[in-house]
Formats: sequence, structure tokens, C-alpha cells
Amino acid sequence: MRTHPTKNKKLTCLISLIVVLMLSACSINKDLTESSIKPPKNIILMIGDGMGLTQVSTAFYYQDIPSNFNRFKYIGLHQNTPSSHKVTDSASGATAFSAGVKTYNGAIGVDQDTVAVPTILEMMANGGWSTGLVATSSIVHATPASFYAHTASRNSYEEIARQLVYAPVNFFAGGGIQFFAERSDNLNYIDSLEQEGFEVDTTNLSTSRLDITKKYAYLLAPDGMPKMQEGRGDFLPNATQMALKHLSQHEDGFFLMVEGSQIDWGGHNNDANYVIQETLDFDKTIGLALDFAEKDQNTLVIVTADHETGGLSLSAATIFGQGDYSKIIPSFSTGNHSAALIPVFAYGPGAEHFMGIYQNHEIFDKMLQALKMDAAP
Ligand code: MG
Ligand code: ZN
Repeated sequence: MRTHPTKNKKLTCLISLIVVLMLSACSINKDLTESSIKPPKNIILMIGDGMGLTQVSTAFYYQDIPSNFNRFKYIGLHQNTPSSHKVTDSASGATAFSAGVKTYNGAIGVDQDTVAVPTILEMMANGGWSTGLVATSSIVHATPASFYAHTASRNSYEEIARQLVYAPVNFFAGGGIQFFAERSDNLNYIDSLEQEGFEVDTTNLSTSRLDITKKYAYLLAPDGMPKMQEGRGDFLPNATQMALKHLSQHEDGFFLMVEGSQIDWGGHNNDANYVIQETLDFDKTIGLALDFAEKDQNTLVIVTADHETGGLSLSAATIFGQGDYSKIIPSFSTGNHSAALIPVFAYGPGAEHFMGIYQNHEIFDKMLQALKMDAAP
């Protein structure tokens, strides 16, 4: 049988069209993959101390505006078992994030043999990024300390304060004046901060122009900052906004750690209103970080917690032995931490790394993966 030349030509045409379409589809896919794995310029790591899924849930039930947690598409879970116990504390929990190691409860930036391990903040500072820390605890408390200090015990507050003076930090805000100014060794580390190039303010978040060449230290309470219930106001969102403003002036990008420190303290106190007020303040601050990241398009935002505190439950009310499903009653099962898996929310370039279920110290690995940075030898 004679083949039909026109039909053959049409067929060849169709095949080449399909091939061209497949090739271009491939290249579009390739572009998408490449852009989605492009390293972020900036990382904002936000830690709600003691903020398990139930604490996060309070942001959906106890305010009239939509929670900023709604804005995340990439969500995972981490398991936070430390090397020494079944349930973690905040030092071991934060060191897992900051340095990528499973260590013992109480460890600040050291492994289980008390050997100092480089932190993400130090590694990024070495690589040219600027760095910042904002917390509602004292700035030498376990969570922020784990990013810049290396001590065998979280209780070595004065030594941690000394280490902060010489750490590669460009901006910090929180409480803790006493650990710099009223020390057992009678040394004045406020002066030392100034000698190291910090503009120090112990009265308020001054609105003066943020000079790119300067470092800023805001120490606004003797120890922890006041509770929201005691009128802390917008310290956390405002300090975070100032940190973003200052750090984003640096062309090489930044690493910023923001801690909602007192969600944990409300849990230890079994004070539901304390937990809720602190969570809503943290939620508001997350909103600012996401606004920055949405505009910037080059910032990875990660929100998580070190552990859950209080075994918080949001249950239906019980009236005369009957469930009243029209009412949510917060209650606690402990004044301590719990072992519940902890949610991780991520936004921006590299966010897809944070999906799935993994160990807490893998958050460090995932930040490095996102940055395409190797762990220190
Ligand atoms: Mg903390
Ligand atoms: Zn705690």
C-alpha cells in the first residue's frame, strides 16, 4: 500500500509539535524547580516558646481577626526529644534549632559532651549576613542565648551576657539589664556593649534613625519583659519591625530570631489568659514578618516552638456531667512541658523543605539546605 504523503507530513508535523510542547513544558518545569530552590536572601526564625498546636489554636478562637497562621501553606511537625530525657527544656530545644544537635536539657549552644557547636547565627554572620535577636524574655534567657552563646548551663546568665557583647549580633531587643549592669563580678557590660559599637538603650525602643554602620542593643527590663496582661503593649511587633528595618539595610541579607518567650510562662502558670494574650501578640508579630516577606519575595519565614507547655486543652465545657459543645474551656494537664509533636510553619523560598515529620535538630539542617550552605567542618 502506498503511504499518503500529505498524511505523513501532517503526522510528522503533529509529532514535532508534541515534542516541542513537551520540551517547553520541561523547561517551564525546570524553571519552576530552579526558582523554588533559589536560596532565600534572609531568614526569619520565629519561636513561640511553649507553643504547641493547642496554643496556636487559641489564635483561631480568641480574636475577631483571622490568624496570621492562615497565611502559611508549608506545614510540618517536629519531634523534640532531647538526648538526656524524654521531654525537652527550652535550652536543649533551642540548641537543636540553632546548632543542629540533639543535646541535654540545660545546654546552651553545646553538644551532649558540653563542646561548643557553631550556630546558624554565627555561620551566617561569618558568611556576611547581618543578624538580630528579639525576645520578650531577657536576652540572655535560654532560647535567644542558644543562638550566640556556648555554656554548659542555661543558668550562667552573667557569662551568657558577656558572650553576647562579643557575639556577631547587629541588633537585639529584650529584657535583662541586670545581667549586664548589676553583676556579681561588679563589671559593667553596658559600657562593654558601647565599646563594641552598640548604641545601647535601656529606656525604650527609640525611633531615631537606624544607622547602617551601627549596632543596636535594647535592654528594656531588669529581667524578662512585662507580660501582655501587665501592659507590655506592642514591644514585640515594634521591636521586630525595627529589627527588620535595620537588618534589611544590609545588602547581604540577614538572619533574625524572634521569640514569643512568655507563651511558655503562661503555660507553667496554668494561666489560660496569659497564654492567649502572649499567643495573640506573637500572631500579630508573625503578620509583620509575613508582610515583610511577601513584599521582599526573598525571605524565608519559619515559625515553630521548642515544645508545648502545660498540656493545654481546648475542650467542650462539662455541665452536670454533660458536654456543653457551645463553649470552649481551656484547661491544663501539667505545670511542666509536654512531649507533643510541634507544628512548623514556613513561607518563602525554601519553605518546601519544612514539610513532613522530622526531628527538631533537622530545622537547622533545613535552613542550611535552603541557603545551600554546608555545615561547618
Ligand atoms: Mg524561651
Ligand atoms: Zn518552660
